[in-house]
Amino acid sequence: MARYVGPQCRLCRREGEKLFLKGIRCDTVKCAITKRKYPPGQFTWGKGKLSKYGIQFREKQKVKRYYGILERQFKNYFKKAERQKGNTGENLLMMLERRLDNVVHLLSFAPSRKSARQFVLHGHIMVNNKKVDIASYLVKMGDIIKPRSGEITQNIVKTNLEMVKGRNVPAWMQLRVDLLEGLVTQLPTREDISVPAQEQLIVELCSK
Ligand code: SF4
Repeated sequence: MARYVGPQCRLCRREGEKLFLKGIRCDTVKCAITKRKYPPGQFTWGKGKLSKYGIQFREKQKVKRYYGILERQFKNYFKKAERQKGNTGENLLMMLERRLDNVVHLLSFAPSRKSARQFVLHGHIMVNNKKVDIASYLVKMGDIIKPRSGEITQNIVKTNLEMVKGRNVPAWMQLRVDLLEGLVTQLPTREDISVPAQEQLIVELCSK
């Protein structure tokens, strides 16, 4: 009998793609999707092809799971993305990518987006030397993100950085390990965003 691997891994397997929801475990052979490529559930086989709506819906779910946001929050992001100039799908992803919890994870201050969110909510993160405990805060160009000065917080971040030593930071940010801080050098572009989703399908679904 297959060992239960936890709800998040089941989500990845259902999507059939790695969503990197479990921190460093995702980069190891313990990753459930590496071990079992088929979707979870007893009755998954033989379900047939997904409809167009099904495909679009799955892309949306993928993005929500990747960034750990709920439907209501997603709708708000989408409305904002629609009001901005340019490609709505790209605007949406670029906004989600700039969320503080995502940035804290990308800088490797926390092993997963979920733990990064806890880290932010508990007031461990400062932006431009001010405590920011709002996970949805959108970073701007020139923002400096760093952990609070307390010894415990600093040690947690140092340990996390050590664990993922060598992992690349996206091109739109700079990690200064010696100063234990990250700098937003520019706003992300679509090429900088690694979410495995086709945003155009999401726009088609949400614009109906
Ligand atoms: Fe689980 Fe991470 Fe692998 Fe997804 S990528 S199946 S969350 S270990």
